Amino acid sequence: SKQWALAARPVGMPKLSDFAMSEAEATDPKDGEIQVRNSWMSVDPYMRGRMYDRESYVPPFQIGETLTGGAVGKVTASAHPDYAVGDLVTSMAGWREAWTAAPDAMMANKVPQTGLPDSALLGVAGMPGLTAYAGLLRVAALKEGDTVFVSGAAGAVGSTVVQIAKIKKCTVIGSAGGTEKCNLVKSLGADAVIDYKQHNSYESLLGALKAAAPKGIDVYFDNVGGDHLEAAIECARPMARFAECGMISQYNATEPTPGPRNIIQVVGKQLSIRGFIVSTHADMQPQFLQDMAGWIQSGQMKFEETVMEGIEAAPEAFLGLFQGRNKGKMLVKLG
Ligand code: NDP
Repeated sequence: SKQWALAARPVGMPKLSDFAMSEAEATDPKDGEIQVRNSWMSVDPYMRGRMYDRESYVPPFQIGETLTGGAVGKVTASAHPDYAVGDLVTSMAGWREAWTAAPDAMMANKVPQTGLPDSALLGVAGMPGLTAYAGLLRVAALKEGDTVFVSGAAGAVGSTVVQIAKIKKCTVIGSAGGTEKCNLVKSLGADAVIDYKQHNSYESLLGALKAAAPKGIDVYFDNVGGDHLEAAIECARPMARFAECGMISQYNATEPTPGPRNIIQVVGKQLSIRGFIVSTHADMQPQFLQDMAGWIQSGQMKFEETVMEGIEAAPEAFLGLFQGRNKGKMLVKLG
């Protein structure tokens, strides 16, 4: 089966040549191990951070080592008492078609039947879904009636944020790149959309946000950083809360990027600007799954996916995140 490793640490925007594919024979499970064939793997923006050789909340990927990431698959052989052939498992053993290891070594978990498609376990009902849920409900302490601004609104996390905020009876302004994505965000219930690619300067983006939220915003869910963050500070109402989820506009920067020039407003407006990592909020998982399953069933929560076919396409799918090639969750379907 095939697998991907990092061939070189990317400088700036990653290139296909930064990745190397190899083939390995599937091995039989030893005592306590399982053999799994992956059906889906996830590519996520945080993986870019792990490609730098630096300390962070997750250790860096090593050159030549098979990459890891979210995956879903089925057990094909088992020497573990809790796993049987055919069991569905989520794991961190992505970037490969198949694997044999102890479940714990790959952070594998058996998944009960949810009625959802397997791919949803990597998106709306998985890590990005919980990120939206925890970020909005706990980190930003969302209240009914809030005006919420969310960037990256057509992506996996952002599109879920839009819908949770609507379920909680908030006014939602979403920003995304391009007409097609803005139409998607609108169809998910957003009250206003901003096509940030039509607003090439900070002033223009700020003008669009002011027009969409004439009375200001109570919550900013930040997926992109940069000009969006500065505009959100400018439009923030007193006591507004910012959930700092990600800053993808800076992940490929080769130099430190300037901070928001209006940061001084944090004091006078008494803003709460709080970063968070989804794993810190793992305690919300049971409630999240229960709510999410209900919302999907009732039709209140829709989820879009962009699917690339085959393990060969994995680096291209990953690069696509930084080129905005995905609507909803970017996924790789494995053969
Ligand atoms: P998305 O599905 O949103 O995909 C990435 C999107 O980012 C692209 O489709 C693109 O959309 C947008 N984008 C790319 N480059 C830029 C840019 N320079 N400026 C503005 N937008 C850009 O990814 P996820 O939903 O998985 O992740 C969204 C954010 O959440 C990321 O910042 C990620 O790091 C963060 N995250 C944080 C977690 C945490 O625990 N804190 C957990 C999971 C995700 P467009 O075409 O609209 O530009």
